[in-house]
Amino acid sequence: MAGKEWEYLKECLDTNWVSSAGKFVTRFEGLMADYVGVGNGVATINGTAALHMALVVAGVKPGDEVLTSTLTFIATANAVRHAGAEPVFFDADAATWQMDPDLVVRFLEQDCEFRNGSLFNRRTGRRIGAVLPVHILGHPVDMDPIVEAAGAFGVPVIEDATESLGASYKGRKVGSLGQIACFSFNGNKLITCGGGGMIVTENTAWAKKARHLTTQARSDAIEYKHDVVGYNYRLTNIQAAMGCAQFERLDDLIAAKRRIAKEYRGLCGDVAGLSFMPHAPWAEPVDWLSTVLVDAEKFAMGSRDLLRALAGRGIETRPLWQPLHKSDAHAGAACVKGGVAERLFDTGLSLPSSAGLSSQDLGRVVSAIRELSGG
Ligand SMILES: *Cc1c(COP(=O)(O)O)cnc(C)c1O
Repeated sequence: MAGKEWEYLKECLDTNWVSSAGKFVTRFEGLMADYVGVGNGVATINGTAALHMALVVAGVKPGDEVLTSTLTFIATANAVRHAGAEPVFFDADAATWQMDPDLVVRFLEQDCEFRNGSLFNRRTGRRIGAVLPVHILGHPVDMDPIVEAAGAFGVPVIEDATESLGASYKGRKVGSLGQIACFSFNGNKLITCGGGGMIVTENTAWAKKARHLTTQARSDAIEYKHDVVGYNYRLTNIQAAMGCAQFERLDDLIAAKRRIAKEYRGLCGDVAGLSFMPHAPWAEPVDWLSTVLVDAEKFAMGSRDLLRALAGRGIETRPLWQPLHKSDAHAGAACVKGGVAERLFDTGLSLPSSAGLSSQDLGRVVSAIRELSGG
């Protein structure tokens, strides 16, 4: 909180503009849309709500299937369920750790059939409502093949860009690659409102519909009349005030994340049995988290033993997410392959990656890892 957070929050309190309308909400929407390079931003109460609304306005209907990554935070798949749809999970690509585009393209082209203007899963008979790739850990998905294959059948592509604000794919910002995209401003994300989310889209009709649905679908400015069942998903001016102040520091925060990732790679990239998340040649990642794979045979121990040993020295590391096809919450959902995600889950560990991490703190983490490596 090194910027104008206090100043903007004080302005909200001094002017009484604290709730779900106010200049900071509008300003934050404009800042985000311009940064990503699309026409519209719609602020929401959190990233999960943004995903839920993006699915609805993109036309996903109850009973549809949504193709998404199995290696992601559970909110992605929960939002699919909130929209009444069924997730179909896809494995990660070993080269990028992101949703495997080859599996998605093959599924769309070979396991589905196009009839009456829609694409249907041949096995289940369900309509494919959307493809929902997730740019995990600050690195983009290889989007071109997915966007091209989905576009050929009129299936919308919704980006879950919550972990990768500022990252680019072939020179284009994530959030501008599909038809609609979502960001999160939870406390752990690159910039935070405490809690918050944003939908960005070039499609003005969808943006209008999202704004309508997130404010209880009120259809009259004066009378309390509502045309459909809506949601109370709007961001407050207080949260947006923080978002605006944080946004002014976005470039610095990204630079800090990149510095941390570079220092880790420089200082322990040579440790036997440790390997960092690869950066694809077409990607400009933001290094939201610095994550390593721990090879138990080449390193002195596996990822969870390393987690515990570092915790014993006061250093917190985190595992990746349980692949969602293994999650009790989504039991029974289909998954196309899954072995790569399972291996990443078993061996992955995210190192301390806060933008506030000093080189000294980072040095302490690296020394502890070197000591424990036994080499
Ligand atoms: C954080 C996150 C979300 C959800 O954001 P919230 O603001 O916490 O609701 C969704 N998807 C992914 C991949 C995330 O990391």
